[in-house]
Amino acid sequence: LTYCRNLPKVELHAHLTGSLSDDTVLQLLEAKEKELGSKNSLCSAKITISKGHQRSLDECFRVFELLHSLTDSLEAIRKITQNVIQEFAEDGVRYLELRTTPKNILGKMTKKEYVDTVLEAMINEMKTCRIMVRLLVSVDRGRGVEDAWSTLSLAKQYLDHDVFKGLLVGIDVSGNPNKGNLADYIPILKEAKKCGFKLAVHLAEVKSCVEETDAVLQNGLVDRIGHGTYLLDNNGYGINNQDMILKHHIPIEICLSSNVKTESVSSFEDHHFPVWHALKHPLAVSTDDKGVFSTTLSNEYYICAKTFNLSEKDIHELCLHAVEATFLPSSDKDILRQMVKDDLSKLM
Ligand code: 5GP
Repeated sequence: LTYCRNLPKVELHAHLTGSLSDDTVLQLLEAKEKELGSKNSLCSAKITISKGHQRSLDECFRVFELLHSLTDSLEAIRKITQNVIQEFAEDGVRYLELRTTPKNILGKMTKKEYVDTVLEAMINEMKTCRIMVRLLVSVDRGRGVEDAWSTLSLAKQYLDHDVFKGLLVGIDVSGNPNKGNLADYIPILKEAKKCGFKLAVHLAEVKSCVEETDAVLQNGLVDRIGHGTYLLDNNGYGINNQDMILKHHIPIEICLSSNVKTESVSSFEDHHFPVWHALKHPLAVSTDDKGVFSTTLSNEYYICAKTFNLSEKDIHELCLHAVEATFLPSSDKDILRQMVKDDLSKLM
């Protein structure tokens, strides 16, 4: 694990609210209890949020709802963004592509204030921590198409922003895969691509997503695949997709702990990682929700190396593959690649 901590890592699949550490959740609970003026009211929330357990995807989404109720002020958003970036930096993450769903909370924040606050916190943390951070704005498929259009039109405002230009590098599509149909979001994804955004899309996360996965992939809209658990023909699905994903080198974000803890994969050994790895397909080992799943990126690399018997060379290649899969423009990617290579050479 120490070896994995020292790796210069690139994190490409991290949801802000899912990445909150126990310490941060505790701070938020204390602040909320003060605000509500009662000690008892949040006991059940504490128990529900308590970390590390096996839980279904639906249970995870109930945890997100609780966490969202604790992060309903701009002050909380600033704090969680700072804490999460600091924790990734402490874990040896050199580049973080953080994703989050802008929220509109009546009387408390607009989506624009939410994104501004996250971006301001990112800029501040980059001044003091050894980490480069970029943002993906998330579209939550559970919130409907209209909400997604409004998120996209907000995202466009940052393409040429005086202060924040270059920080918002793409759009993520996430949210409960059992809600809505991704195919309904295709016009939005097409428009996002037309504007120049890169797209990271949660795909084939559950078995029932097969048709929508085909529709989104056939439209050539995806720059990176989140999870991709049910993409493979050995699950009885998606042989055409596998060929297409290989042909277009669409990187897959690999979230081992998340997939095993939510039981979408029965064990680490049964994960789809080795199938794609054997085909030399670009993969990005990621945490998904380091708080909810009680993990770190170092830990994910460690699990991956141990389960699949990876050599040092394999691990270094994974770090470099993640660099190539970032949504950075090529000049920034060159800088990051050099930094990662330099740090890797110090480990040999
Ligand atoms: P936020 O966007 O509020 O910063 O982070 C939490 C949100 O990320 C959740 O409400 C959900 O929309 C999304 N999310 C986090 N983890 C997962 C996951 O494993 N799968 C999917 N589909 N969405 C997720």
